[in-house]
Amino acid sequence: MQQDDAPQLLLLDWEMPKMNGIEVCERVIAKDPENPAYIVLLTSRTSSDDIVEGLSKGASDYLSKPFDSAELKVRLQVGKRMIEMQKKLNTTLQNLTELASHDALTGILNRRAIMAALPKEFKRIERQEQVLCIGMCDIDHFKQVNDSYGHLIGDEVLKEVTQRMKDALRDHDLLGRYGGEEFLVITPVDNTKSAIIAYQRICQAVSAQPIEIDELSISITVSCGVTSYSPKNDQQDITKLIARADDALYQAKDAGRNRVVFK
Ligand code: GH3
Ligand code: MG
Ligand code: MG
Repeated sequence: MQQDDAPQLLLLDWEMPKMNGIEVCERVIAKDPENPAYIVLLTSRTSSDDIVEGLSKGASDYLSKPFDSAELKVRLQVGKRMIEMQKKLNTTLQNLTELASHDALTGILNRRAIMAALPKEFKRIERQEQVLCIGMCDIDHFKQVNDSYGHLIGDEVLKEVTQRMKDALRDHDLLGRYGGEEFLVITPVDNTKSAIIAYQRICQAVSAQPIEIDELSISITVSCGVTSYSPKNDQQDITKLIARADDALYQAKDAGRNRVVFK
């Protein structure tokens, strides 16, 4: 029962040498309280107190000896049904969690999820004495892409830009879709200089080659506004940081696009 692929359905005696059934129940439930095994206690103890103790310590069902084999069989079938149901629930929950935190078009984190990741990143860089860079990256003149080729092609461009940005990032960087054609990039770095290089790499990765869709060849660029947070010097104010990155992004647009501005 201590192994990862331990059985999910247990038929357990109460009286056993070394460790009794109640202790086993407690330890099995404590190992994975979110996804507990279904335990049927089968014991010669028959008092109401025993039943109460057995069920309250984690058993899902209780059967007294001597038992009727047909009854045991159907009780085990109930256990199997419960396990199947729990499995389905877990899968549904996993799928819903994925859907709630990821953007449907690009598959990357959605705005809520990337914003929720920020406080965790603050804590992480504090421990590791790093600086956190936050970049707002916006596709240049994207409206023209939609206007010229239609929204479906626009969607394909968005997907390819996302892939190129992902490829340009390192494992511990985070990428999320902040809004329509706007991405939030979180990069923990040792110094701001290496962050600027990272964002320049994003710009280059997107613009290096035109995006080929069907017979079309579409040249795309992005502009990035970047700011940094250092636990030593700055206040932890997410709204201000985003505003500063946004400001830097406007400056990058004003200065001619396809570039990084650090503020
Ligand atoms: P700028 O360089 O100043 O950022 O110009 P822009 O054209 O990129 O900016 P603007 O805000 O004028 O237009 C953004 C466009 O992005 C308009 C909107 O229709 C498009 N857009 C946003 N989300 C999606 C999407 O999911 N799919 C498609 N195809 N287009 C989108
Ligand atoms: Mg844009
Ligand atoms: Mg925009």
